[in-house]
Amino acid sequence: MTDITEIIDNKRIKDLLAREKNLERFNLNTYMLPIEGPSSRTVTVEGKEMIMLGSYSYLGLISHPEIIKVAHEALDKYGSGAGGVRLLTGTTVLHKQLENRIAEFKHTEDSIIYSSGYVTNMTLISTLLGKDDLVIIDKYDHQSIYDGCILSKADWKRFNHNDLSDLDRVLEEHRKHYKRVLVVVDGVYSMDGDIAPMPEIVDIAKKHDAFTMVDEAHALGAIGPNGKGIDDYYDMKPGSIDIMMGTLSKAIPSIGGYIAGNKKMITYLRYASNAFIFSAALPPVMTAVALKAFDIIEDEKERVHALQKNIKTFIGGVKEMGFDTLKSKDTPIVPVIIGDDIKTFRFAKKMKKEGILVPPIVFPAVPREGGRLRCCVVATHTEDDMDKILSTLEKIGKDMKVI
Ligand code: PLP
Repeated sequence: MTDITEIIDNKRIKDLLAREKNLERFNLNTYMLPIEGPSSRTVTVEGKEMIMLGSYSYLGLISHPEIIKVAHEALDKYGSGAGGVRLLTGTTVLHKQLENRIAEFKHTEDSIIYSSGYVTNMTLISTLLGKDDLVIIDKYDHQSIYDGCILSKADWKRFNHNDLSDLDRVLEEHRKHYKRVLVVVDGVYSMDGDIAPMPEIVDIAKKHDAFTMVDEAHALGAIGPNGKGIDDYYDMKPGSIDIMMGTLSKAIPSIGGYIAGNKKMITYLRYASNAFIFSAALPPVMTAVALKAFDIIEDEKERVHALQKNIKTFIGGVKEMGFDTLKSKDTPIVPVIIGDDIKTFRFAKKMKKEGILVPPIVFPAVPREGGRLRCCVVATHTEDDMDKILSTLEKIGKDMKVI
């Protein structure tokens, strides 16, 4: 062996490099474009200002003056990093305040934060479940949930996306063989933009003596009359869902993830989850940012309302033109289905030329022929932005015979 790339499965790397070369050849690669400033309503890319239709900053808090102010203050007071892992010397006053704030916000007894959302799911599943247990996940769950299952010693099975009778079937068939069972779903699905039927999922899980967990990465700050997530959306009683997971990297303009739930479970995670014990704590500055953002969601409800108004305008508009948006409803993620890979890349490229940045998503992230523009609507898009986005989609959609 002479070349390190031989360590990678030969076919996979060959396919991937060929795909990348093709995109470069036809000048269709819009991945990893360096953005020259904050990911807001508009962004500057290659020196040109464009409307951003792919940011997770759903409430537009990344550049909020209060957020910038607390970040400066925390930087001045705490410096740049935490200097340790949470269990030992990396816990600051801010970390404790944020955990209390999240528990209050999500109406749970306690919460624990980790330094990424991805790691939060991995560490949670692998810490809580072991060899006598079963994890049941929705087929479209986020990769971090799959990876948590793989890392844990538990068995895991999938049910068809948002299919309640299939969930019931999997539980009926397998519950009896395991000590503990955890059903894990995304609140809002990150590629399809639809919402889990959470009250029914909880009922089915309860019927089979199974626990439930929801990943609210794209639900927090975005859905529900108060923007508080899936429990708010369905008006569910506190404690209905056993484990509430969320990220601090989307509507909350920071980095990190959290688990909110029962106090004993959270205490256990503090002493037993590897990501808490063996990985550096969230930097204090990002902790301060997250803390402030929870206040802003509550204090500036108009942001949540503006987001939900923009979502309605956008989904209504694209549907009326004849685009397929799958079952996305009430969420800031709206897939606009284009078709095969190349067509999807071409569409995204044309959007960019017209001054709109939107990511193309293709196989294997989504099914073959299910290539899509994954549009993310934000609260700060103006009416003019919406008009421009919709008319551009319509023009290109007609030119390319998508509609
Ligand atoms: N869960 C879902 C549903 C996500 O979409 C993501 C990231 O996009 C994550 C977890 C991971 O979160 P983070 O990017 O904060 O690590």
